[in-house]
Amino acid sequence: MTLEAQAPPVKLTEPKDKELDDVKHYKLLIDGEWVEGTGGEEVPSYSPVTGEIIGYYTKAGQEDVDRAVKAARAAFEKYQEMGPFERAELVHRIADALDRNREKLARLSSLENGKPYEGEAIPCVEETAENFRIAAEDVKRLESPIIPSRDRNKKILTFYRPYGVWATITPWNFPTLIPSELLAPGLASGNAIIFKPSEYTPIAGLAMAEVMLEADIPPGLLQCIPGEGPTIGDALVTHPGVDAIGFVGSDRTGNIISQRAGLKHKLLEMGGNGPTIILDDADLEIAASLTAVGCFYEAGQVCCATERILVSEPVHNEFVDLMVEEAKSVVLGDPFDPKTTMGPLCNEMTAEKMDRHMADAIEKGAKLLYGGKRASGFPTNLYYEATVIDDVPADSLISNEESFGPLAAVSSAVSDDELIRLANSDRYGLQMGLFTSSLKRALYFADRLRTGNLVVNDNTDYWEPHVPFGGAGGTSSGHGRIGGKYTMLNMVYLNTVVIDYMNVKE
Ligand code: ADP
Repeated sequence: MTLEAQAPPVKLTEPKDKELDDVKHYKLLIDGEWVEGTGGEEVPSYSPVTGEIIGYYTKAGQEDVDRAVKAARAAFEKYQEMGPFERAELVHRIADALDRNREKLARLSSLENGKPYEGEAIPCVEETAENFRIAAEDVKRLESPIIPSRDRNKKILTFYRPYGVWATITPWNFPTLIPSELLAPGLASGNAIIFKPSEYTPIAGLAMAEVMLEADIPPGLLQCIPGEGPTIGDALVTHPGVDAIGFVGSDRTGNIISQRAGLKHKLLEMGGNGPTIILDDADLEIAASLTAVGCFYEAGQVCCATERILVSEPVHNEFVDLMVEEAKSVVLGDPFDPKTTMGPLCNEMTAEKMDRHMADAIEKGAKLLYGGKRASGFPTNLYYEATVIDDVPADSLISNEESFGPLAAVSSAVSDDELIRLANSDRYGLQMGLFTSSLKRALYFADRLRTGNLVVNDNTDYWEPHVPFGGAGGTSSGHGRIGGKYTMLNMVYLNTVVIDYMNVKE
């Protein structure tokens, strides 16, 4: 087996043929068992941190998808006998198992994704468990209305019913947290799940599934089958036995899935290119330090990262100087070193995109103020400098596409309405930020910005797990909402039962 033949094409430019000491070989999780896959040989997953192999996984094949769907269907039918309080107990047990394995999952997330261990990976795994606890409690309060009837002989009841078999297809930037946003409410509300982790973080996804099994999940309720999107992802999306699709990823893939899935129910959370807007009445030091969090947390690889910064012209120069100071204070390095505030990018695809976006912006006249290239002296070439670039033109890639890297990209405008026009100028509408000391202006912007979520006076990565999050209407950022009971409401449908009680004998 040559490494070239096995390596995902864009995980790393120069993978090292060296394994971690505790490297594990994962099979596929189908019907409660770890089984051999039919998709070919096992594949290594490389760490962007060290370039080493951190684990092996088996790619699923079409037959595995069929097996997974069959197992999920059977489990779904059987699981209907379990009431919501029993399901809540199961989901609490999953949260307990995740808590018990916090360090192990966080370590794998750091190794496979590049997240700083203490500052990012540990909190992410804690929130992964919290999502299960929230779902366990939400399902106990999933009340549905009794609806008055205009016929006095009728009673009209409603019940929330699970959709059935869900394909859950997730990205690599939050390898346990994003899956939990769908798995937790999905299982709590009575669905069966086939989880396909990203091909860039399969080991963290498989390890999460393994940990979840410690909670004695009935066989078949959870399958985990890694593989590439266009093959295994597509096989799931188009499978007649899959009832619904939960997808988090790029809008390009979301578009393909929408077309391929036809009439299946879909919950889609896709990208964003959201700006943070700095008004001239903001406290600039606070605004710069929090905007830097939005730009550099998780090396900018977050759908709600601050992708653009739009500044009121009178405070433009002062703000840009402060942003450069913020970028200088970022400590790029080994995610396991507590001093590190930013790890490497997760994969070559993302680093290459940053290279391309930077070259394009500079060619179109933007001014590079700090960083702007891959950092040298690290074990892989995926470490990228915290970057500040100014006067980014409206027709640049940065202004129109997600860059997904550690980038503070600044433009300015003179009036509030011009800032709003620029903010709304691309196809996305997920999360935006605004810094102002005026509540009146905050509400003026809130009414006019085309965004699913707006954070005023904090960083754009601010979220709480029970709060609804998703795209604005008419944008490419998605349909439905992620977040606590709002996700659950997307994973069940309302079933109406009309009873004519005059026609019953007793
Ligand atoms: P990202 O760049 O954030 O990983 P993608 O949209 O490429 O975003 O991938 C998100 C998830 O979608 C991954 O699990 C990937 O394997 C999957 N995926 C990619 N292409 C397809 C496809 N054509 N059908 C189904 N799933 C896909």
